[in-house]
Amino acid sequence: MSQPIPCPVCDSASSAFDVVDFNKSCEEMRGKFLPLACVPIYYYRCTACNFCFAPEFSSWTAEDYGNHIYNEDYILVDPEYVDVRPQANAKGMVSMLGAQKDQFRHLDYGGGSGLMSQLLKHDGWDSSSYDPFVNHDTDPTSLGKFDLITAYEVFEHVPDVRPLVTRLSKLLARHGIILFSTLTSDESIIPGQRLGWWYAAPRNGHISLFSKRSLVLLGEREGFKFGSFSSGFHAYWREIPSWASHLLRDA
Ligand SMILES: [Zn+2]
Repeated sequence: MSQPIPCPVCDSASSAFDVVDFNKSCEEMRGKFLPLACVPIYYYRCTACNFCFAPEFSSWTAEDYGNHIYNEDYILVDPEYVDVRPQANAKGMVSMLGAQKDQFRHLDYGGGSGLMSQLLKHDGWDSSSYDPFVNHDTDPTSLGKFDLITAYEVFEHVPDVRPLVTRLSKLLARHGIILFSTLTSDESIIPGQRLGWWYAAPRNGHISLFSKRSLVLLGEREGFKFGSFSSGFHAYWREIPSWASHLLRDA
């Protein structure tokens, strides 16, 4: 484990950065601590693109994730997962793009039970949901191409980040945009300091921690331009569709 390994984003040699307990969760931000699992999780960091990742998880199967992370206790470390967040995200989408809803097909990638998509459909959107952990038997490419893809709370949960962006790219229409959330690490993972950042939380499945540079590089591989609305909400696109021009002016 002490040997440098290639960065999953840019292939540069990456070395071990810090180690945290498997039970480190995002709820620690609110002062809630799980008992230690006594399982060390090493995070590596690429000094070329500042991507930070936990190589341990690249060998995990879907079953491993289901047993150890996305199990019946997941709700304890992500209490807003079931309905608070999907409702808030649907509301956010309606305020951003509700007036243009007749002009695009929408896919919520990694949409869990599909609640956000259902809420948008109820509001008249052409919206579908796909989640690799839920829709095991669906080949996402069979769903066709989408003009708008949202991916909330997806990027930081995926060990193989290049295939993720390639998959999204294949699902996106030429004039389409991907809106996605993930908190960027630029101000929070500092060389010479411990990995105390609340978002670096193996128990939540936060195994890939992105700098802005790493998101730019990942997108470039698929010919995407990149922009951010905030440190937690971002966009990829090739050609800006007219219905989204008001959004991407700000990104
Ligand atoms: Zn890198």
